[in-house]
Amino acid sequence: MKSGEEVCKFGAIKNWTIDPFSCEGCGACTLVCPQNAIKLVDEKTADTFITKTDKGIISRAMMGIGSDGSGKLVTELRKNAKRFTENNSIVILDGSPGIGCSVIASITDTDIALIVTEPTRSGLDDLKRILELAEHFETQVMICVNKYDINPDMTSQIENFAREKNLFVVGKIPFDKLVMKSVNTLRPITEFAESPARKAIEEMWVRMNSLMKK
Ligand code: SF4
Repeated sequence: MKSGEEVCKFGAIKNWTIDPFSCEGCGACTLVCPQNAIKLVDEKTADTFITKTDKGIISRAMMGIGSDGSGKLVTELRKNAKRFTENNSIVILDGSPGIGCSVIASITDTDIALIVTEPTRSGLDDLKRILELAEHFETQVMICVNKYDINPDMTSQIENFAREKNLFVVGKIPFDKLVMKSVNTLRPITEFAESPARKAIEEMWVRMNSLMKK
């Protein structure tokens, strides 16, 4: 049988010592230790909260800096969202960027993935990567281009890509200085009646509703 040092894919075991900063908690070493000398211990990494607003609840968390388990935390937040809402409520998950554990935990078992991209080369590359993930989970995809007017050429390339893939660009949100004001004053953009971004988001929502699979 292999030793713990040999089975650890993260190089966390050296000279019979486990480096806690390299350990990913996969548990492989616990299975091969002939003396059962290694065991995994649960560790608190985040606090979860339910915040009530006039539009519904927000299921959120505060994670410790450098903590692991963001995927498990998203799963926990989804459970909380279900626990505190009616059965037929719409649940919107604000996924993190990339294609890591937390994004996988966000995208599984959802009806629609709205991929929000920006008109840059890296934005288009990231869009392609997350699209592969969504296709893997057979999730319906829609696309939104944020700040579309800062680079019209790149926005056209994103639209062409969407057309090739038979995907809907359901929203194009313009650059809007009020978005920064909304962030700085901790007020949602929907409270800024004169905001062009708000208008574009509302129109996108109407479009999304009409395209959702019945
Ligand atoms: S739990 Fe996994 S990552 Fe951590 S030391 Fe054991 S084998 Fe390595």
